[in-house]
Amino acid sequence: MGKSFDIGLERLTGAGLPSASEGVPYIEASRGDTAAAGGTFYLETFGCQMNEHDSEKVAGVLLARGYKQVETPEAAKVILYNTCSIREKAAQKVFSRLGELRPFEGQLAAAKGLEGDTRLNPRKVVNAGGGKIIGVLGCVAQQEGQEIFERAPWVSLVCGSASYRKLPQLIAELEAGNRRVTGLDIDTDETFETEITRRDNPFRAYLTIIEGCDKACSYCVVPFTRGPERSRASASILQEVRQLADMGYTEIQLLGQTVNSYADPSARKMRFSDLLVATAEIPGIRRVRFTTSHPRDFGKDIVDAIEDYPAICEHVHLPVQSGSPAVLRAMARTYTREEYLEKIALMKSAKRSIGITTDIIVGFPGETEGDFQETLSLMDAVQYDGAFCFKYSPRPNTPSLTMIDAIPEEEKSRRLAILLERQREIQRSRNEKLVGDLLEVLVDGKSKRENQWSGHTSSNRVVNFSSHAENILGDYVQVKVTGATPNSLIGEALTGTGAQP
Ligand code: SF4
Repeated sequence: MGKSFDIGLERLTGAGLPSASEGVPYIEASRGDTAAAGGTFYLETFGCQMNEHDSEKVAGVLLARGYKQVETPEAAKVILYNTCSIREKAAQKVFSRLGELRPFEGQLAAAKGLEGDTRLNPRKVVNAGGGKIIGVLGCVAQQEGQEIFERAPWVSLVCGSASYRKLPQLIAELEAGNRRVTGLDIDTDETFETEITRRDNPFRAYLTIIEGCDKACSYCVVPFTRGPERSRASASILQEVRQLADMGYTEIQLLGQTVNSYADPSARKMRFSDLLVATAEIPGIRRVRFTTSHPRDFGKDIVDAIEDYPAICEHVHLPVQSGSPAVLRAMARTYTREEYLEKIALMKSAKRSIGITTDIIVGFPGETEGDFQETLSLMDAVQYDGAFCFKYSPRPNTPSLTMIDAIPEEEKSRRLAILLERQREIQRSRNEKLVGDLLEVLVDGKSKRENQWSGHTSSNRVVNFSSHAENILGDYVQVKVTGATPNSLIGEALTGTGAQP
């Protein structure tokens, strides 16, 4: 499900929690030895694309200070986890990771200023050369705050995403010898802009244009963990896109928790659709993507922009969450089923064939069998090209936490399985209709199998195809679709289409 659309909301696995300890950290913050002269960092990211891109910027901040990124916590002086708390299991995983870094019990003396060994627990991580700085960033940092120091006293940095603008200063404080630093303000009108962003994807450049969220969906932690909506000035965004085009990027993805709620803070007052067009018009840019759109702020101007500018990708991710009017009200989603379907109708009537994907939650408190059937009927009506479907998971600091009528776990699982199967069939049928078509694919992967490549279409479908070309990574090629599965297309590249424009 949803594999063809790499929006990637989360990676979930269960995990045990370390037991709480009290007192000051076991591990001393380093006294300047992590700075430019040989400092190394390890950064692991959980969660959504916004987090992935935040990590690219965090890495940029550290690289600018002379740090070098390493592949393992063992090799690092600074270990950072950029965390996700959208679901409970994702948050638990972070504490499991921190548990792996737990020092020897006998090292408490060192933390209390007595002589002692400050090595990390060698069961998992060996620190042969002195103290490490361990930091928790992102949504769990914001949600748990200083509690993290109680649960994992070996952590020395806790910083939520709304405070990332302070990161250089916090890192400098740790380098200067401070044992614990925090950045937990969410009352901000600033965005996180960096001189350097270390870009992990060589084919698609991500750019956050709006941070935080002013909506108040009753199940969601984001307004609490990421703070209020704040948009970057359009001139600064477009300047960065021009730089990315100069670096050779041809595909840009504009990011925001509610990307289409973008409100240009500059005198130019560009609408989101104007920003899409201005980005698409920058020489060298061939594809402009955007995610995630909120249905309330999704209007005809966006569909018009997609129709008129081929460089704006024919893909819209428009989370519906439920097909039931009653559940949508309880979720405080701010639109009705009818209003949502009107937005879908706008896209379906466009001249270009726009791929539509969504997010759906099953088992919201009070969701009846009738409500669930309405979600299924909405899926049938829309015919999504992909859907991320989740079981409802109660989160701290959210209004739905106290709602009665919780749905039993087995019932949630039953509904989820039905939903996934229905969506799988819809995707199979939609993909099969594309057999015989000629599609433009940006090549972003090479299979171990000879002459086999993969890439994405403008509608964000994955295409696995054969080509005898030597190296077409990063090229746009024309692919004839010869087969389809629910999650991807199969095809053959037309010869002579491998050249980069
Ligand atoms: S729109 Fe709703 S679900 Fe999306 S980030 Fe904001 S509060 Fe959360």
